[in-house]
Amino acid sequence: MIRVGIPQALLYYQYYPAWKTFFEELGAEVVVSPPTTLATLSSGSSRVVADTCLPAKVFLGHVLSLVTETDYIFVPAVRSVKSRVYNCAKFLGLPDMTNAVIPEAPPILDMEIDVNRGKRDLYQAIYRLGRRFTWNPFKVRRAGLAAWQSHRNYHELMSNLRLTPPQAIERVTGTPQAELRPKLTESDFTQGTIAIIGHPYLLYDEHITHRLLSRLEQANYRILTPEMLTPEELESGIARLAGRAYWTYEEEVVGAAGHYLQSGVDGIIGIMAFGCGPDSVMMDMVRREAASTGAIPFMSLTLEEHTAEAGLITRLEAFLDMILRRKRRETAICA
Ligand code: SF4
Repeated sequence: MIRVGIPQALLYYQYYPAWKTFFEELGAEVVVSPPTTLATLSSGSSRVVADTCLPAKVFLGHVLSLVTETDYIFVPAVRSVKSRVYNCAKFLGLPDMTNAVIPEAPPILDMEIDVNRGKRDLYQAIYRLGRRFTWNPFKVRRAGLAAWQSHRNYHELMSNLRLTPPQAIERVTGTPQAELRPKLTESDFTQGTIAIIGHPYLLYDEHITHRLLSRLEQANYRILTPEMLTPEELESGIARLAGRAYWTYEEEVVGAAGHYLQSGVDGIIGIMAFGCGPDSVMMDMVRREAASTGAIPFMSLTLEEHTAEAGLITRLEAFLDMILRRKRRETAICA
């Protein structure tokens, strides 16, 4: 059976259930790289110049971990999934970058996705990819439809049940994910609610966030993330803060912040990657909006390869402390 490797990084958190369904429907075995470790990050970093953004380094580390395990590695170039809204250049050049810096990698399965070129172009790209596994176009069509259904189920599950991508992936595909959250019940969230905004490939990678989400839940905070919002909520969040989206991931940062700034959460934490131009512009927009209303405390954390766990914990504790003092003060004024 042909083994197709999928790196557990970048677009994995948005599309893994769809990709897995597609390849399995075509008779392939899907192999996912293990969760990020220090070794993953170091090996990815060693292949690129220092100022490459952190998530791209992590991605290359995941590709390296699949090199000897698979017959192909799937690395799509996702240019745009929404009309006139684009991904950053890293995503467009991902197959070329991977080929160039990891020459020992097995053949890269790539496809370009750009909805602005029309449905015909997209269908042709799917057929071209599927033809590596079968010459039967009906089988490729069936696999494509099953993948689309799986993608919809996955995203509905996250917004309906307020699940994080790893939790939803586990439910939809049965693939066990690293335990991000301890099994808490509603009554455990005694301290309040914190919204975390940022790209899923940062938020849900426990190694690069130093288990930020788990730490917050262990401190009895309910966590809300961008994936728990519906497309309509994200769009109205963007309209409130920026008018119109230009970048795909504006939803994950500006859209989610626009929504959560109005939703009565106790605090918002923005996670961004060192070396990311779009992130610094978007996070600055959110910071200014949060400061101008002054209603909800906001903190941004910039993650990089050498981010120290102790420094991150200190900033987190200071932020939670500030939220707690603020809540006590509000309670005292009301009393
Ligand atoms: S959006 Fe930023 S963090 Fe994400 S891949 Fe592009 S440059 Fe890197």
